Amino acid sequence: ALDTEWAVRWMRETARVVAENRVLLINLDRVIGDADHGENLDRGFTAVVAKLDSSEAPETPAAVLKLVAMTLMSTVGGAAGPLYGTAFLRAATSLGDAAEIDPNAAAAMIRAARDGIVARGKAEIGDKTMVDAWTPATESAETAAQAGATAPEVLTAAANAAHAGAGATEPLIARKGRASYLGERSAGHQDPGAVSTAFILQAAAETAR
Ligand code: ADP
Ligand code: MG
Ligand code: MG
Repeated sequence: ALDTEWAVRWMRETARVVAENRVLLINLDRVIGDADHGENLDRGFTAVVAKLDSSEAPETPAAVLKLVAMTLMSTVGGAAGPLYGTAFLRAATSLGDAAEIDPNAAAAMIRAARDGIVARGKAEIGDKTMVDAWTPATESAETAAQAGATAPEVLTAAANAAHAGAGATEPLIARKGRASYLGERSAGHQDPGAVSTAFILQAAAETAR
């Protein structure tokens, strides 16, 4: 079930995957940004794990995601800190005080995160940002939930769509964030934030059962 323990597993797995892919994310951000995305996220999710280890266990999935939001906002910095902070805060709010996340709630949680990122960063689909991973993830999650998928299947649908969306940022010309300063030279490389989004959602799916 997608319960509080799942939310904690999701965040620990995210920290592990982000650490494992720290250099990959740094290198993606090196070519179209300032080479810090992997470092920013690794610092943030390392702090999240430290928080989870040192504080009393949160009582609901929403409480876990709220702790994550607060920690990311105060430790990640750059563009991604406020964007992911907002995403996790909106995701937390969408869950209310539910003890378990059903398929529709799972899709709504991803929608809330995506809408928070759009509200904060004002990027549209095709601007070569993390929105290009979150938007197809949202659509696939909603389609899966409507078709009667289980909550873990909803997360898997979202993760697969995010992965495809991140891959599809490669030919795009960036119109938001640092990469937009490069203009046409931003084409030919995947967006680091879209790739990290795929890792986060993949961790969600892999820890679901
Ligand atoms: P910074 O660019 O400040 O160094 P990061 O490197 O941590 O921050 O994050 C860069 C990522 O943030 C980009 O790859 C992109 O996905 C995302 N991003 C930047 N600006 C926006 C925006 N306005 N809307 C959505 N995502 C954005
Ligand atoms: Mg950067
Ligand atoms: Mg930076």
